Amino acid sequence: PEGYRTEGSLTLEDIFIAVKTTKRFHQSRMDLLLDTWISQVREQTYVFTDEEDDALKRRMGDHAIFTNCSAEHSHPALSCKMAAEFDAFLASSRSWFCHLDDDNYLNPQALLKLLSSYSAMWDVYLGKPSLNRPIRASETLPNNQTKPVHFWFATGGAGFCISRKLASKMVPWASGRNFLSTSELIRLPDDCTVGYIIECKVGGHLLPNALFHSHLENLQLIPTSQLTQQVTLSYGVFENKLNVIELSGPFSPQKDPSRFRSLHCHLYPDTSWCLQAAGW
Ligand code: UDP
Ligand code: MN
Repeated sequence: PEGYRTEGSLTLEDIFIAVKTTKRFHQSRMDLLLDTWISQVREQTYVFTDEEDDALKRRMGDHAIFTNCSAEHSHPALSCKMAAEFDAFLASSRSWFCHLDDDNYLNPQALLKLLSSYSAMWDVYLGKPSLNRPIRASETLPNNQTKPVHFWFATGGAGFCISRKLASKMVPWASGRNFLSTSELIRLPDDCTVGYIIECKVGGHLLPNALFHSHLENLQLIPTSQLTQQVTLSYGVFENKLNVIELSGPFSPQKDPSRFRSLHCHLYPDTSWCLQAAGW
């Protein structure tokens, strides 16, 4: 019967959505996300930032998490935030952890559909491979010697998801202060460290998925008719040009440079400000 859920079927409440941001992007990036996709998944979305902000607190309540991480683009500062995201997920009772940057659009229904084809009781690591080959790094050993390692990792700027089963196996390297010490072993950014822990320590594997997108790929190449099926999208600068998805309206590129408001209106045409934009 309609509305009937069989036991074990996945709902949005089962997903922990972590968004990484920093003070200087609260207005320019977070307000856009709060107006758009976060409005659909407020209950399961947590924002990790580095400075107290009453405006953000007013909109997110206790889902705005002020970490003590420094507001820098350094590896340790970013690893500190990833560790905070991971620990908050572990402390929750949700079955999937998904990380996003603050320049990502998440389509919750597409995410739900994707995760529904896996089980959080398996080891699952889903995302967009950052490179078309495994990254090579050098791991520092306890005796100060080094060992070459290579592994795949999902680019953080496209978002990625990890099942609870896999996350629980990552705890010795990823929880609390361990994440930072692990990232120091390979001296690479936080998203690489996640891949290293999963592939080199736990023995898991990245499952490449083409529905995750960052602004390091040409977003114009995604056919407009397929935009609503994508799990994540992004916007930003790529090769010195503004890199955004191809979508004609309802908002002009001047009013909606990221195209996220227009995309939101395609997904949720009943939104009040979408009806206004359409001239109702
Ligand atoms: N970020 C951060 N601290 C910083 C700079 C950036 O937490 O000092 C976050 C930012 O909010 C975003 C992610 O890191 O979620 C990536 O930053 P950005 O998009 O500016 O850079 P990219 O690596 O994509 O070029
Ligand atoms: Mn970015």
